Amino acid sequence: MGLTAGLVAPHLFSSCKKEKIVPTINYNGSIAIIGAGAAGLYAADILSSKGLKVTVLEASSRFGGRIRSFSANDITNNNATAAYLYNNAYTPLNDFPIELGGDIIYGSDSSLGNITQILSVPLIDLGTATDNYFLGGQVNNASGWQGDSDFQAVQNFVSTLNGNTSNASIQSAAGVSTRAQSLLNSEASNLYGSTYDLVSASGVGGELHLRQHDTKRLTVKSNTLQDILLSRFSNAIKLVLFNTAVTSIDYSGEKINITDKNGKQYQVDKAIVTVPLTILQGGDIAFTPSLPSINTAAAQKFGMDPCFRMIIDFKKNFWGSNSGFLWGGSFGPQYMNGGYNRGTFNSTLVVTAYGQPALHLSQQPGLTAVNLILNELDSLYPDTSGNYPGLASKWVIRQTIFNNGVPQETDPVVTSYDWLKEPYIRGGISYPLVGSTHQDRISLGTNVNNRIFFAGEATDISGDAGTISGALNSADRATKELIQSITA
Ligand SMILES: Cc1cc2nc3c(=O)[nH]c(=O)nc-3n(C[C@H](O)[C@H](O)[C@H](O)COP(=O)(O)OP(=O)(O)OC[C@H]3O[C@@H](n4cnc5c(N)ncnc54)[C@H](O)[C@@H]3O)c2cc1C
Repeated sequence: MGLTAGLVAPHLFSSCKKEKIVPTINYNGSIAIIGAGAAGLYAADILSSKGLKVTVLEASSRFGGRIRSFSANDITNNNATAAYLYNNAYTPLNDFPIELGGDIIYGSDSSLGNITQILSVPLIDLGTATDNYFLGGQVNNASGWQGDSDFQAVQNFVSTLNGNTSNASIQSAAGVSTRAQSLLNSEASNLYGSTYDLVSASGVGGELHLRQHDTKRLTVKSNTLQDILLSRFSNAIKLVLFNTAVTSIDYSGEKINITDKNGKQYQVDKAIVTVPLTILQGGDIAFTPSLPSINTAAAQKFGMDPCFRMIIDFKKNFWGSNSGFLWGGSFGPQYMNGGYNRGTFNSTLVVTAYGQPALHLSQQPGLTAVNLILNELDSLYPDTSGNYPGLASKWVIRQTIFNNGVPQETDPVVTSYDWLKEPYIRGGISYPLVGSTHQDRISLGTNVNNRIFFAGEATDISGDAGTISGALNSADRATKELIQSITA
């Protein structure tokens, strides 16, 4: 796979580059890292750059985990996974990177923001766009909604979410009118991984409060996030054993015995587990002895719900070319103007749903999920000519078939990805359930006897859980603990 334009040869950016003087650590033991997502790759990069013996065991056939950029390879391989649903025989039409998973950089000076700066990757600031809001079947921007008390109630809640201490769900804590419920769910819950009846107000509020970076929201202009990972972590990627799903970790003896699904065994001295929360909760990996209750009890304090991504191409932008996000949808709780400042030929909406709306989309047969989204947009953007149910149906790009030489437009061209069906991910992002505390995040990532360490976005304690930067921060924390256990 070639790199997208602008990225310099990968090895130049690794922590292992020869000209960089990195103090090595005298340690003969070996370390296994489970999972080659952002957390696993960063952990491998840090440890191997210090001269430590590292192997990364990855269940799937690719690196990146929940960072997954659409590539030509995906088109040919799409039948291998049930996660792709529609029209996968067709190349997406976008002239900018398509991200099936993580796509927004939260914080220009966050861990991910810093990587894009080091690599001089051109970025787009979504803060310069104008957001639009659906309310009571109407759509408008913030100034258009000025004076609407329901709109204002949601914005007041969103603006005070940072530091919120209410030990209730977002829905109860906000207490907005029936008319404003979808908008609240969209702006204050879906963004954090589930629906507003499940996400804890103090959980999100506390995490936002801990964040050490600015609140900018950025996207990458022309490179893919997968290429950025490849550039930054090329040496770590060489340490990955793919198709190696770990099924058991036995740490009862002097060495840690790890077994994969093919029965192959690996003997190591220390391990860093970076698998998603669902995999830990689901018991995919049998630990001997069982993990301490401090970890297992904490794992129940967080959710990781279904997640559905849909990318729809239109011939014309009918929602406003300066729009960033469209908030307030029910079937599609988050619409992002994917082409903002980067698409030239088409206009694209990127739909992201977590929790119940994602499950609903996931369960629809055939093109029903696409039609639910198009219907929602049609009702908000009516076609005044009366020829179409609405502007979404009018402008969506459709496949063309030739019937006796006559072109006929058929199904919409849509790319979608159902993260629930990805066997080694099975959901979107971790989020704090009502009743959880910051201490639970700390407990979740507490290492076991300085031998089994935990990283991955769910174990981030810096306020960035649920994000790529959170995954990177957790790797930083876990590797520091591991190095300390060797050098102390
Ligand atoms: C649709 C979607 C949109 C998102 N949007 C954003 C966004 O805009 N901005 C942002 O910052 N974040 C976003 N995120 C979240 C972000 O992608 C994740 O927080 C981050 O990528 C998680 O990295 P990780 O290393 O913790 O876990 P993962 O990337 O999940 O990596 C874990 C790895 O472990 C592997 N694994 C699982 N089980 C086993 C096993 N038994 N043995 C070996 N390996 C195993 C998996 O295959 C996977 O590769 C989004 C996520 C999704 C799904």
